Amino acid sequence: MVKIEEAVIVNALVRQALVAGQEVMGENGLHAVLRSSGLERFVGNLPPDDLQPGIKTTEYARLNQAIEEFYGRGGRGMLRRIGKASFQYAVREQAALLGIAGVALKVLPARQRIKFILNSLIGALKKSNPQVEAWVDETGARLAYCEATCAICLGRHSPEPICHLYVGSIGEAVRWATDQEYEITETHCIAKGDPYCRFEVGEVKG
Ligand SMILES: [Zn+2]
Repeated sequence: MVKIEEAVIVNALVRQALVAGQEVMGENGLHAVLRSSGLERFVGNLPPDDLQPGIKTTEYARLNQAIEEFYGRGGRGMLRRIGKASFQYAVREQAALLGIAGVALKVLPARQRIKFILNSLIGALKKSNPQVEAWVDETGARLAYCEATCAICLGRHSPEPICHLYVGSIGEAVRWATDQEYEITETHCIAKGDPYCRFEVGEVKG
C-alpha cells in the first residue's frame, strides 16, 4: 500500500495535464487554479517532459478539486474536457510512453481494441511510477479500467464519484482505439469509500 503523502506524479504526466488544462481553460484559468491549489510554481513554468518526480499525488488531487470548485456546476464538464485533451496530448507527444507508436488496430474487434488501449494507459502509468496499481477488469460483459492508486481522488472524500478527468481521458482513449464514442461510467470511487476507482466502458453513444 502506497502511503498517501509519499506518492508522486512524474513531470511528463504533470506537463500533459497542465498543457491540456491550458488548452481547455485558457492561460488565465490555468493560472487561477494553480494559484488556488498552491501550485503557483508552475505559473508560466511547465515541467519538462521527463520521468523525474513532478508533484505529490495529493497536490494533483488538490488541483483537480480546485478546477471543480473554480467552475462550479461546469467543473465536471471542464475536467472531462481536460482529460480528453490530456489523452490527445499523450498521443501527439508521448506515443512511445503510451506504447502506441505504429500500432494497427483496424483488424481487431472492438473489445480487443478497447482492451489494448486500456492496457496501454496502464503500461504508461506503471512506466512512469512503479507504485501504480491498475488493471483491466474483464470479468463482466463490459470492460473496465480500475485503479487503486488513483491520483485524482487520493485523500479526497465525496458521496459521488469525482474522477471526471479520468472519465474524459478513458473516453478519448477508447474513441481513439475504436473510432466510436462510448459512454464511460465511474462505478466505484476511492473518494466515496471504495477500494479502487473503476471506469466502465458502456454502450456506444449516439
Ligand atoms: Zn479516483
